[in-house]
Amino acid sequence: MSQEGLALAVERMRDRGMGPEAVTVFEHYYQQLEEGAHGTIPEDTIEPLADLQELGEVRVSDDDARAALRQTAVIKLNGGLGTSMGMSGAKSALEVKDGLTFLDIIAKQVLALREEWGVDLPLLLMNSFRTSEQSLEILAKYPTLPVDGLPLDFIQSAEPKLLADSLRPATWPQDPELEWCPPGHGDVYVSLLTSGILETLLEKGIRYAFISNSDNLGATCDPEVAAWMVERGLPYVAEVCTRTKSDRKGGHLAVRKADGRLILRDTAMVAEGEEQYFGDIKRHNTFHANNLWVDLSVLRDRMAERDGVLGLPIIVNRKTVDPSDPSSPEVIQLESAMGAAIEVFEGSEALLVPRTRFRPVKTTNDLLVVRSDYFVLDDSSHLVAVGDGPEPFVDLDPAYRLVGGFEKRFPHGVPSMIECTSLRVIGDPVFGRNVRCIGDVLVDGLARVEENAVLEGPRQGSAGDTRTVDQHLKAILSSLDPSPIESVPLTESLGLVVARDVRSRVNLPAFDNSSMDGYAVQASSLEGADESSVRLRIVGEVAAGVDPTFSVGPGEAARIMTGAPIPPGADAVIAVEQTDGSATGSVECRASVSTGRYVRPRGEDVSEGSVIVSAGDVVGPRTIGLLAASGHASVEVHRRPNVVIMSTGTELVPPGEPLGPGQIHDSNSSMLWAAAVAAGASAEIRAAVGDTDAELLAALDDCVANADVIITSGGVSMGAYDVVKSALADKGVEFVKVAMQPGKPQGFGYLSGPGDLRVPIFALPGNPVSSFVSFEVFVRPALRRLMRLAPERRPVDVATLTSGLRSPEGRRQYGRAIVSRNSDGALTCQPLAGQGSHFVADLSRANAIFVVPEAVTDLVAGEKVDVILLDS
Ligand code: AMP
Ligand code: MG
Repeated sequence: MSQEGLALAVERMRDRGMGPEAVTVFEHYYQQLEEGAHGTIPEDTIEPLADLQELGEVRVSDDDARAALRQTAVIKLNGGLGTSMGMSGAKSALEVKDGLTFLDIIAKQVLALREEWGVDLPLLLMNSFRTSEQSLEILAKYPTLPVDGLPLDFIQSAEPKLLADSLRPATWPQDPELEWCPPGHGDVYVSLLTSGILETLLEKGIRYAFISNSDNLGATCDPEVAAWMVERGLPYVAEVCTRTKSDRKGGHLAVRKADGRLILRDTAMVAEGEEQYFGDIKRHNTFHANNLWVDLSVLRDRMAERDGVLGLPIIVNRKTVDPSDPSSPEVIQLESAMGAAIEVFEGSEALLVPRTRFRPVKTTNDLLVVRSDYFVLDDSSHLVAVGDGPEPFVDLDPAYRLVGGFEKRFPHGVPSMIECTSLRVIGDPVFGRNVRCIGDVLVDGLARVEENAVLEGPRQGSAGDTRTVDQHLKAILSSLDPSPIESVPLTESLGLVVARDVRSRVNLPAFDNSSMDGYAVQASSLEGADESSVRLRIVGEVAAGVDPTFSVGPGEAARIMTGAPIPPGADAVIAVEQTDGSATGSVECRASVSTGRYVRPRGEDVSEGSVIVSAGDVVGPRTIGLLAASGHASVEVHRRPNVVIMSTGTELVPPGEPLGPGQIHDSNSSMLWAAAVAAGASAEIRAAVGDTDAELLAALDDCVANADVIITSGGVSMGAYDVVKSALADKGVEFVKVAMQPGKPQGFGYLSGPGDLRVPIFALPGNPVSSFVSFEVFVRPALRRLMRLAPERRPVDVATLTSGLRSPEGRRQYGRAIVSRNSDGALTCQPLAGQGSHFVADLSRANAIFVVPEAVTDLVAGEKVDVILLDS
């Protein structure tokens, strides 16, 4: 069947005018796909890169640089459509900085290099059939850009998208162009050859090509690399950058043990179960920047030897035929990565380059930073960072994900980011003109950000003696990364947030079936049965779970049970109540039926491939039912964080054990465990530790590898034995005073674990009530943030006080209360007597917390107060 698929696909390519080389390469990939190649590279077949040459240590003279540049062409991969950012045309036509598009900036960079070095540096775009026209229109603004004898672009091949189930070419009459895709950027080599550009370049004395993505503004044609390549006689150079903990995706280079050659391993090539090696940024400490330098004469030789097929590993890219319509048929796009060619060039090298050479704009988060004043374009149109701090981390709400939504919400440009370390936006406010972000900024739940607003969050590293509750909470929340995405069995998914859309694997119902006990018939057999009854011959019986082997013809009937498949031939069911109920022989029918009566058609409820559960949905019992019915045993969710709880205090004894003098039972551990589980996390209690630094550090060391969050209680105030504070203050945990009561002393930070692990740790005060309130106010929202559960905070109601109360000035008071609803539905709040932070009985009796604002010191009976209901 798939041989037929291949033949059909090839025929289409020929009809479209694809050259023989492109067809041969496609055939080669198709065969690999059929043979089940998925191109994985197991960890034990490779060795990490070692001893890298650094660009900063390369020394070349100006003359050598100029000579090398004279033999170099700049090629930009420009087939990208920006669909993931909601664009319909070429991604590089997006205005990215100072009103200039990517292509404007690329053109200006090339023109500046020409002027500086006095060379003719050609620029060539590799366009897809969908990006060419629009891109050339932009470049037409630069009349001096074309170089004699060379076009400004060449067109990448196109290949048919293949239906995932049959591997035949997909058809999509609504928009036939969507039946085609470019075969990945690995096609650059084939297209250089088939377009004749390779030959033309060599004839013109251009021996080297610098190839990079058009959305990477840092990828400028650096003459030093060209000169280094010439001096060393290298056939191929791949630029790599040092990986940081946020670079877990993308590909990396490694040495293949079998032949010592450099190879590229992309995300898609990681063997199952080996993700930890791929993610280990100490082991594979650089990533592939997709900036390549190729000796074109060597390329020509390799292509000739191999009949135009470099034989790059395939990448199987699964999408829907219309990428903007998730319910359109699933297709496979056969692709290859251009960086994979490194294995074809014997003697190729990796070059460690600064991060500034890798500055892609993949998301609107990236776009915000590039557009902002954190970067400027210098005289040579190179993107240069102005701020001296690290590049701000930006995380915008999904409302800003597509360029349209982004532009609408920044109608006057993006905020100033020079002084910003991070910006998270929750909700979808429109930003006014001239907004400044300073420090770690969290925008949460605002309808709009006013003109000239200064959004100031806590600056990283500044201790800040006393902070408000909101400042402390923002500092915590804005530092948290969402819980990793993991596929979990349905029985472990309850309450978690779905991370990726899920499609049905089946039709529901899976087959036409009966909704009644009765007889399957052809409706036409019962014409006139309302007036005088009709007898039908019984030809068989179908129970649920049975596949009927007979068919029902005119004048015939088959007994059928609810849920059983409708036998072939039948088109309706007559209910048993309207017959004489015979089991054999013939059945007397006393009513006519219309076609389709009591038939539940296949796919009526859910059609195969349609999205049944969306990213962001919270998994509940009914979601689980639907997933199971649709063929799923597991679901991808934000993982349930594991919370490790550890109390401190030499006086503590586990619950249930006898008390010695001065000892008390450790109640916080059990309480915090329950609070964490009630918040949707999983939790475990570790044995309480005594009040010495060594004991605490050893116990934390033991648990850090298994914890997603750590909570300690006790030892954070000013006492002589405040172990948590003394042991952790120089270990990345910040201890602050928060303007609240109870819960003033708070610690929060990150403990480092094995590898690159950073585990958030909450150091809560030891008094049970303080511990509880601190959990409610800080830890619970943080756990929900990790799990991506909204809303993060409990709703606030308003209740009428039954008695007056006093509250400290300048601190927000969280008191315990019983809140009830009176007969007319209004809430009343009765503060409990034991407001001291050691009163566990009144804490347990309370069903609510009342909140008195910082500025309020007195409230009398009958006044309104904010309340948070605890058990809702
Ligand atoms: P600390 O913050 O360690 O000074 O503790 C403050 C108060 O809370 C002291 O009275 C402790 O005995 C008490 N306490 C500390 N940890 C716990 C715990 N795990 N369970 C119950 N009470 C505790
Ligand atoms: Mg203590």
